[in-house]
Amino acid sequence: LPFDQRDGWIWFNGQLVPWKEAKLHVLSHGLHYASSVFEGERAYGGVIFKSREHSERFRRSAQILDFEIPYSVEELDAAKALVVEKNGNPDVYVRPVAWRGSEMMAVAAQHAKVHVAIAVWPWPSMFDINEKMKGIRLDIAEYRRPDPQTAPAASKAAGLYMICTISKHAAERKGYADAMMLDWQGRVAECTGANIFFTRDGALHTPIADCFLDGITRRTVIDLAQRRGWEVVERRIMPDELPTFNECFICGTGAEVTPVSEIGPYTFRPGNISRTLVEDYAAEVQPRARAAA
Ligand code: PMP
Repeated sequence: LPFDQRDGWIWFNGQLVPWKEAKLHVLSHGLHYASSVFEGERAYGGVIFKSREHSERFRRSAQILDFEIPYSVEELDAAKALVVEKNGNPDVYVRPVAWRGSEMMAVAAQHAKVHVAIAVWPWPSMFDINEKMKGIRLDIAEYRRPDPQTAPAASKAAGLYMICTISKHAAERKGYADAMMLDWQGRVAECTGANIFFTRDGALHTPIADCFLDGITRRTVIDLAQRRGWEVVERRIMPDELPTFNECFICGTGAEVTPVSEIGPYTFRPGNISRTLVEDYAAEVQPRARAAA
């Protein structure tokens, strides 16, 4: 069912509105000039995992694009919880989005109103579940993550996702599940909607998140690995190192923890570390685990 034709409720500028009525005008600054930021979150058992962290990042993403979301972290957390409850499904993906409106239609948009909407929908897993445990296959993208002096890399800005969509389409056309992107200096960066980890000799290695999104799942996985007593090394990783790693997995709100079996010509075998972290993450996101922590 197309996303504009579903039933349910969407939080729109402070009010719950029927799903099909949550519309905006075609002359919206966010559409023409990509003055838009968003979040991707998941509710498990009716509770949004790390809701506050996502609300904080949402506000920070907008500030980096020089606009202010007109709701506090507490108001956003309450609004998200309300939408989850109102839609009646305890296990959903949560999508807050903010954009500049129609008051000004040129590059400058200082007086455009900032709009905020929050929708939720069921999204069991970003990747096919059978494929997921065998490990997914990744292509190496042609486009790279831009220099942080060229693009607002720390913002979850809609405009940065054009690179991801192009790369994901190219990968899927070739039969891959996703693409791994290098950064502007040719180092391993991330996937089109997830961060990446490798293992070697019982330690985890992951690129430094200085020109791509430092995922909330990435930080959670680092914590889970350290709680297992495994060393986590954040460092520069060049693609010629790929054949030296044993395991590889990607992680993100949508992807959760997903093992990888191939990146272009290189193969990996999902093993103990990947499987353990798939399970540890699945346990960690449950509200009971959160309440006990
Ligand atoms: N990188 C990109 C490009 C993403 O879209 C995402 C998903 N938001 C991530 C990394 C992982 O971020 P998180 O763990 O906060 O969902």
